[in-house]
Amino acid sequence: MSIEEQVIENAKQGKLLTHKCTNCGYLHLSTAYYCLKCGSKGFEDVLLEGSGTVATYTIITVAPAGFEKYTPYAFVVLKLDNSDLRISGFMGGIKTPEDLPVGTKAKITGFDERGILIEKQ
Ligand SMILES: [Zn+2]
Repeated sequence: MSIEEQVIENAKQGKLLTHKCTNCGYLHLSTAYYCLKCGSKGFEDVLLEGSGTVATYTIITVAPAGFEKYTPYAFVVLKLDNSDLRISGFMGGIKTPEDLPVGTKAKITGFDERGILIEKQ
């Protein structure tokens, strides 16, 4: 399986595949040749629980071509629990800011053509 396929398979199980620097512990979301923090070249895969809180988001009412059927939705930035990592993904059914206060608990629930899918917990 490619790295991308592994990310997708883990997302479908609500988990996030990250790459941890074996020298300083810094977590990387995508594959890097050098640690962004310390420059080391050693990494190990770490699976994180895909749960966290909504840090910010953008509500999409005018979707790009092919995504009209999904509107309204929000493009959400989720700050993961127990980590400083932030990931972005898709949350359906969000019309107004009242639907999704910042700080709402949410989690990764899957992956499809929309990318990482996020739902309220
Ligand atoms: Zn490092």
